[in-house]
Amino acid sequence: MSLIVECPEAYEAERRYILDIVLTRMLGLSYEAVIRHRDDVRITLRDDPSGADVLLPDVLFKTPREEWLGERSLPRRPLARHRVSPDESDAVLVEADLPLIYGEPMRNGSLVERQGTRTRLALDVFGSAFFMLTRYEELMPSVRDIHGRFPASASLAFRERFLERPLINEYVELLWSVLRQTWPRLKRKRSEFRIIMTHDIDVPLYSPGAGLFRVSKSLAADLLRRRDPSLIVRRLRSGQAIRRGVFALDPFNTFDFIMDLSDRYGLRSAFYFIADESGSVIDRSYRLDDPFIAGLMKRIGARGHEIGLHGSYNSYREPSRVKQEFERLLHEAERQGVRQDEWGGRQHYLRWENPLTWRGWDAAGLDYDSSLTYVDHLGFRSGICNEYPAFDLDAGQPLRLRERPLLVMEGTLFSHMKLSADAAIARTVEIARRSMMYGGDFVLLWHNHTLASAREREIYRTILQHVVDSARTASTSLSH
Ligand SMILES: [Zn+2]
Repeated sequence: MSLIVECPEAYEAERRYILDIVLTRMLGLSYEAVIRHRDDVRITLRDDPSGADVLLPDVLFKTPREEWLGERSLPRRPLARHRVSPDESDAVLVEADLPLIYGEPMRNGSLVERQGTRTRLALDVFGSAFFMLTRYEELMPSVRDIHGRFPASASLAFRERFLERPLINEYVELLWSVLRQTWPRLKRKRSEFRIIMTHDIDVPLYSPGAGLFRVSKSLAADLLRRRDPSLIVRRLRSGQAIRRGVFALDPFNTFDFIMDLSDRYGLRSAFYFIADESGSVIDRSYRLDDPFIAGLMKRIGARGHEIGLHGSYNSYREPSRVKQEFERLLHEAERQGVRQDEWGGRQHYLRWENPLTWRGWDAAGLDYDSSLTYVDHLGFRSGICNEYPAFDLDAGQPLRLRERPLLVMEGTLFSHMKLSADAAIARTVEIARRSMMYGGDFVLLWHNHTLASAREREIYRTILQHVVDSARTASTSLSH
């Protein structure tokens, strides 16, 4: 059974990209796209004698070429909202109150309308999904924070209060409920919920002996300020002592705690290493061939956890640098006997520029990036809880690279949103639950250096326990 999607001409690559994601990747439906001279999108089922069809408005892709990626193509604010009633749709939604990115309710106030064999859905599902997934709005000139990042506060999702909803998943459910009611024999695919623990290694160890940068910085200070060569000797000696074997006591050496906990729940933790050796202050710059780091890589690989790249501070807009760093990481990983089918990671400081960062990661041969969340607010920056192929908006072409959206970083909860431990746990678990509703990924970032205290470890453990518990409850209630 194959759908036929009739679309107007223009933006063919963009349309194909988003049709593939929505219909094939998310719903598992086969379809054929056909260009027609019309001003909406019409879906029919091949060889269906009833002649039934589903119509959707074509809003974003109706943008004149000269206004593409310009202010005038942005969704009009405030967005129209619609309360979806149960007799209108049985789609599983986070909330019945639905903001409409592109589209507005029909004159009679409904979002879904059936007349004979024809159903209209007054929401541009494909254009809205394209807008969110490609991070279209981030290509506009707009505010940036001191690290050049697009802040949550500038985003449509935050301003229209849907950042904590996987809104595109909700849209796809709405579309599915319309398709299924039109053609009850259609079968969809459902993806399975995944818990993905990730750990950016910014500061592998607290002790001065291991962080090469810390040593060299204090050595330089000894020389320049204190003019005391004996201090240098003493520091070097203590560094050697630390190197000889007190790594185990280092408060930031929480790697085994992380792996033990993940093992207990049958999860795989991904550890992203900075592979830049330029010695810049902001990258901390440990060397991958440092005995502690090399041993750590080996242990992670041997225990079946994942190694990935933590792109250095400036690499987000320097594709050649990403390539160099990834090659260095691959080389060291190989030396430590690490073999992986898939390589991915995340940019340091979550610095991400559209489309240069994706382009660089794609060109370097990385399989996925997981940088897309906001530093200042947790949630669904791309409006989706599943991994999806990236798209180069400037070149107008899909990339091989996949984006695996990050949903929560611990620093966001505490340093930026200033949540109490209880609130941080509740908000994070709720985000996971919403991802679970759609068979999404719950991608969490927790740094090794923020598990130094018993209290931090307790918060981390509690979040994990709650998420695992609710995933189990959900899967048992489904199987009964
Ligand atoms: Zn980092």
